[in-house]
Amino acid sequence: MIEIKAKEDCCGCYACYNICPKECITMEADNEGFWYPKIDKDKCINCNLCEKVCPIINKPNSFLYKEKSYAVFNKNEKIRLESSSGGIFSILAEYVINNHGSVYGAAFDKDFNVKHIKITSLQDIELLRGSKYVQSRTNDIFKSIKFDLKNNKMVLFTGTPCQVAGLQSFLQKKYDNLILMDIVCHGVPSPLVWQQYIDELKQNYKQDIKSIYFRDKSTGWKTYSVKFLFDKDEYKNFGFKDIYMKGFLNDIYLRPSCYNCNFKGIERVSDITVADFWGIEKVLPKMDDDKGTSLIVIHSEKGKQLFDELSEKMILNEVNLNEAIKYNSSMIKSVKYNEKRNSFFAELNSGKELTDLIRIYTKISFEKRVKNKIKSIIKKLIR
Ligand SMILES: Cc1cc2nc3c(=O)[nH]c(=O)nc-3n(C[C@H](O)[C@H](O)[C@H](O)COP(=O)(O)OP(=O)(O)OC[C@H]3O[C@@H](n4cnc5c(N)ncnc54)[C@H](O)[C@@H]3O)c2cc1C
Ligand code: SF4
Ligand code: SF4
Ligand code: SF4
Repeated sequence: MIEIKAKEDCCGCYACYNICPKECITMEADNEGFWYPKIDKDKCINCNLCEKVCPIINKPNSFLYKEKSYAVFNKNEKIRLESSSGGIFSILAEYVINNHGSVYGAAFDKDFNVKHIKITSLQDIELLRGSKYVQSRTNDIFKSIKFDLKNNKMVLFTGTPCQVAGLQSFLQKKYDNLILMDIVCHGVPSPLVWQQYIDELKQNYKQDIKSIYFRDKSTGWKTYSVKFLFDKDEYKNFGFKDIYMKGFLNDIYLRPSCYNCNFKGIERVSDITVADFWGIEKVLPKMDDDKGTSLIVIHSEKGKQLFDELSEKMILNEVNLNEAIKYNSSMIKSVKYNEKRNSFFAELNSGKELTDLIRIYTKISFEKRVKNKIKSIIKKLIR
């Protein structure tokens, strides 16, 4: 039976919950808002299936297909602008739905919690489109995917690398009709912090929220904005200024497993990895018009065949992977643990207001600012 000794040893993928034959695992949120398995020991029959499928204990094999990687964007400009990077997810989703398949990915529910859902129609692709910077709950999705696969449906699953690994572990075998797409993942913020943030915004505006966009590109792709549409008004702020994004990018409230992630690297469990092609202006300037370009890395024969078949819908150029990941360290290494994380959560749980707290915890001291300035002057002089 699975036992979580340290929180960093669970990425919250739900594989154990989905596999348990006695349904004696529930997923419960801790005081930081992240879910962990809890076992009803009276019902447990010690079959050990939960341990067997845990991707942290038994990581599935990872691959890289002949070092094939590309700078890509969708030829459909509208979809590209609605997507976080180059809009490649939507091309894969359309293909699967046109082949009567199911697509699984992260969507907002009516209260703007993020969870994985299944879609089977083209108009629902927009529900999954766009990054949601909060951990997505997969609930019973893995069981639903297995059911679809066994009924010979084509399935596309998209998610974080740990969710993809969790699904592959749960399935325990390879399916020809399954396409796995993961993202390059900085880490996932706390669902508790996210809910408090939207509650505070709702209170400030005294209106209900109609929609939320983490990556609004009307201010550019590289200088994207976070946008909330309320009943009457709109909140829009640059990603680097929005207080929730600041806390996320300062790594104050990521899941503990994200600081020592088991799923980094150029080899992956997935067929295809999609990321923002940061640094495209240096690697391949002709692919940069600031509307969003994806970095695509292929990991399997299946991924390569699919990519080739769909390439007529894309503008693409092959790139050198080592060159590309110079600007995207999230592909290969975890973020550094933020030493202030514990005291942040302690203060949050004692009832302090969230936005004030994030402001305090992201403030750079005068000393650090001077050090950073000196570092950047030295860098410029060396160049
Ligand atoms: C939490 C998070 C961290 C990321 N960190 C980085 C990074 O450090 N560097 C980088 O280059 N790229 C990162 N990305 C990936 C990037 O933002 C784009 O999602 C990716 O480039 C795909 O873009 P697209 O234009 O093809 O499709 P889009 O339509 O933008 O992609 C949407 C896809 O992402 C999935 N998705 C959205 N939110 C979540 C979520 N919370 N959990 C699981 N899956 C989700 C959806 O299911 C959908 O399949 C991150 C994404 C997320 C969600
Ligand atoms: S050991 Fe078996 S029965 Fe017990 S919790 Fe794990 S999967 Fe469920
Ligand atoms: S299977 Fe997933 S949710 Fe369960 S313990 Fe392992 S990492 Fe955590
Ligand atoms: S950083 Fe690693 S552990 Fe955290 S969500 Fe991403 S893949 Fe999962």
